Amino acid sequence: MCFGSCRVTCDNCKPKFVYCPDCGHKNMLVFKACKRCGKPLTEEMKDAAIRDWEERSKARNES
Ligand SMILES: [Zn+2]
Ligand SMILES: [Zn+2]
Repeated sequence: MCFGSCRVTCDNCKPKFVYCPDCGHKNMLVFKACKRCGKPLTEEMKDAAIRDWEERSKARNES
């Protein structure tokens, strides 16, 4: 378990990543554009990533 003191790459307790729709690169939510191809990462994409994370988080808690 990780509370408070987890690594920046820890995706367990908070949504932290959004995948680039063009190249599939894993970008941190704080980035404004894909680090690999430069595609802008929109708020809509980030919202969708957060919702997806919440679904996965629920599934984790149920199992
Ligand atoms: Zn964590
Ligand atoms: Zn990209």
